[in-house]
Amino acid sequence: MLVVMRQDATEQQLREVMNVIEALGYEAKPVPGSQRTVVGVTGNDGRVDSSRLEALSGVLHVIHVTPAYSLVSRERRPDTTVVTIAPGLQFGGAAVVVIAGPCSVESEEQIVSTARAVSAAGASCLRGGAFKPRSSPYSFQGLGKRGLELLALARRETGLPIITEAMDEAGAELIAELGDCIQIGARNMQNYSLLKAVARLGKPVLLKRGMAATINDLLLSAEYILAAGNDQVILCERGVRSFDPASRTMFDLTAIPAVHSLSHLPIVADPSHGTGQRDRVIPMSRAAIAAGADGLMVEVHPHPENARSDGAQALYLEQFAALMHEVRAIAAVIGRTVARAPGTGEAGIG
Ligand code: PEP
Ligand code: MN
Repeated sequence: MLVVMRQDATEQQLREVMNVIEALGYEAKPVPGSQRTVVGVTGNDGRVDSSRLEALSGVLHVIHVTPAYSLVSRERRPDTTVVTIAPGLQFGGAAVVVIAGPCSVESEEQIVSTARAVSAAGASCLRGGAFKPRSSPYSFQGLGKRGLELLALARRETGLPIITEAMDEAGAELIAELGDCIQIGARNMQNYSLLKAVARLGKPVLLKRGMAATINDLLLSAEYILAAGNDQVILCERGVRSFDPASRTMFDLTAIPAVHSLSHLPIVADPSHGTGQRDRVIPMSRAAIAAGADGLMVEVHPHPENARSDGAQALYLEQFAALMHEVRAIAAVIGRTVARAPGTGEAGIG
């Protein structure tokens, strides 16, 4: 860390800064310049808490050299972490993984027919919310445990592993029992007690970026899970709130290469919540694969007009099948493949 002194800082203020640095157990190395003095802080093992120094008189600002996160950083682990959510299905390898399914699990017929259709089109993982984080308490809140059981039934029918969101510890425990990967939604990205609890369950976690979270915030949330001993974390870009009402959210494509350079964790893209409109999901899906996303999460519904949540952004089944052809073509151009569902072998479907 570097402590930058004000131009008009006195000798005494400089001495006080050095005393505090030494009292914190570090070494202070002043570097006098023609305009001002900078004090280097060394002897630290990780990031230094700068709050005591920032408030001292004569200090202009503090520059951190060490990022706040460490376990998730690519510096720490140069190779991308491969996250295995079920035997034969991995995120972070050469194959991109397409997760598809409805926003909410609504009925047996809805989830099983969607699972069959997305599987036939080449998706390798099924999504569907059982515990729904709705903005309004009067909106459909999900089928709860029954929804989870229906997802498990759809997995039995198709072989597709299942990812679904936990909103609290009790839900996470149920998902750990019945599901393959626990999703932490945008609204809970900074629910640190939930992150710690989920990490302890030892299941893979898909962590979505919060609506107003920086990439640094996202990586710090992932750090909580790794710090609790679980490195099976997949990050997800799902758009952020912006000043522009033209789209439900601003889908941040640059998050994909940015996360890849900062972290070894795989990142998938969710262009459904990232745009909020069906006609924008396909172009942004193409773009996300081209940008290097390790996978996609796409909402698909057999009858979007009757969906109990997020119908406007749900692809029709035929649209999803057409998208899969494009995803394969784009992946091939950048030297990647599209993951097959476990147990479907080498032969391509669709
Ligand atoms: C979802 O994937 O069902 C969801 C609610 O997404 P987000 O947390 O990104 O809003
Ligand atoms: Mn949704």
